[in-house]
Amino acid sequence: MDKFKHKREQELKTVTDMISIYCRDVHKTDGGTLCPECEELLDYVEKRVNNCPRIGEQTLCSECSTHCFAPNRRQKMQQIMRYSGPKLMLRSPVMALRHKLIQWFNTIQNKACNIF
Ligand SMILES: [Zn+2]
Repeated sequence: MDKFKHKREQELKTVTDMISIYCRDVHKTDGGTLCPECEELLDYVEKRVNNCPRIGEQTLCSECSTHCFAPNRRQKMQQIMRYSGPKLMLRSPVMALRHKLIQWFNTIQNKACNIF
């Protein structure tokens, strides 16, 4: 039994939402389906999330400072998050609060991670 199953699912849901918003607005898709580029990125993120060694910690993969994403994927994901993050937050106040908390935890963690 994967005790982090719920977190993985929640995380993937967030990432999926963010990519959908970005793809719909920026790539002008219909919102129901992703363009091949975003589809491929989502597939990549899914694999990373499912293999994350730090899944039990208070971060989202998309925000984790010891990123397991390849640099170009990471850059792309950051771009998507910058665009879709605020929009997603407007849609869901609970998510906004959660996001703030994660950012706060991350600030603390980043200090430790910089040593490596
Ligand atoms: Zn797209």
